[in-house]
Amino acid sequence: MRAVRQKVVAGHLAYLGLGSLIGWLYSEPLIGLLFAALSALVWHLRQLLRFESALQSKHFGSLKYGDGIWSQLYSRFIYQRGRNKYYRKQYRQLLKEVRKSTNAMPDGGIILNSNFEIVLCNQAAASLAGFRQREDRGQRVDNILRNPAFAEYIRLGDQSAGLEIPSPVRTGGWLLCRMVPYGVDEQLLLLQDITERRRLAAMRRDFVANASHELRSPLTVITGYLDVISSDPDVPAEWQKPLQQMQGQAIRMNKIVGELLELSRLESSGSAGSDEIVDVCSLLSTARIDYANQEGIAEIRLNCTSRVQLHGSSTEIASLIINLLSNAVRHTPPDGTITLSWATSADGAVLEVADNGSGIAAEHLPRLTERFFRVDSGRSRDDGGVGLGLAIVKHILERHQAELRIDSVPGDGSHFECRFPASRLAAAEPVAIASQS
Ligand code: ADP
Repeated sequence: MRAVRQKVVAGHLAYLGLGSLIGWLYSEPLIGLLFAALSALVWHLRQLLRFESALQSKHFGSLKYGDGIWSQLYSRFIYQRGRNKYYRKQYRQLLKEVRKSTNAMPDGGIILNSNFEIVLCNQAAASLAGFRQREDRGQRVDNILRNPAFAEYIRLGDQSAGLEIPSPVRTGGWLLCRMVPYGVDEQLLLLQDITERRRLAAMRRDFVANASHELRSPLTVITGYLDVISSDPDVPAEWQKPLQQMQGQAIRMNKIVGELLELSRLESSGSAGSDEIVDVCSLLSTARIDYANQEGIAEIRLNCTSRVQLHGSSTEIASLIINLLSNAVRHTPPDGTITLSWATSADGAVLEVADNGSGIAAEHLPRLTERFFRVDSGRSRDDGGVGLGLAIVKHILERHQAELRIDSVPGDGSHFECRFPASRLAAAEPVAIASQS
């Protein structure tokens, strides 16, 4: 490159020198220099105009035969142009392949810019939610996918969970929407058809509910006969123990059936209504009083630092408290302490059931809310546990848009925190302290 530059400068200087020399021979070196400079300028101007007209007409064939530095400039330009053409073709091919593969995807994919306007969408997005691949470009996504919950979902920007919405194009169909942020401000909206999954879940729910319901009547008959037989003084002594065991198992089955029915009911409707105002503190106090006359259990303390109330279902919150408290009672020794508390927090309110009982090993914590999961199934069965209590608690909390946090250390005890969002709180009343032990 440097050599070319030196050659060009040297060539021009030599040309100007020659002009001056010829001028000098005629005793006019300045005119000779001027003439040489002018002729060089005209020559460059000609090459420039030739280049400009080639650019205009897009016919670059004539440029192949340029002169001097211009020949090099032309050939470099033609080479770069050829390379760009090649890469453009490669990119177009690649884009075609990407389009083909995204169109083959069963899930809908929509690329959105920072204003939630559609940049690109695939064919599945068109068939699942009615997006038009060309016409809807530049439109806000919530203008096409018209659903208040979806508008709220993209407004809040909480992408940690997906959102299930009814299909806008198929009656009875359901879609799972999930936003995945990428790049600087762009988002990828994924749509998945979950109609079949929901149908199977509903079938399972109905099956469990129907089976539990059908088991209720025979169980009532069996329990009734067992009560009558065991209260008969003529029953032989050797039958007393088997009868007691049968009664114990019938009670346990009744409990399982009752809890399965409660779970089915909780699962079958989405969210707890908010018409009812729940006084959590007095529910905690009632639950504590229910255990007041039981001998040989841990001390139960009440610590309400707020009288704020909840929009929700008082039956469900009472069931939640009973489930957590009965677990704490079963897993805390009589000299231990259980604390029921209700307090406001920065982002809502917290109901907590804490004990200093046996605690739970860390590896079991993620599975505690699964149906029929028990840390020690043998022990749990003996003390009346069926492994459905925390599954019920989880569902009740979901129905109140609340979350469960469990903190436990084996040997030190457990903390079950139910965190309710501010949106579920009824008008906050001034703090009134209710603390009993
Ligand atoms: P269960 O009816 O068996 O109590 P749950 O779903 O209520 O079923 O609880 C699941 C498991 O979690 C229980 O088997 C028990 O081992 C453990 N667990 C629940 N609460 C506590 C607690 N407060 N302390 C220790 N373990 C607990």
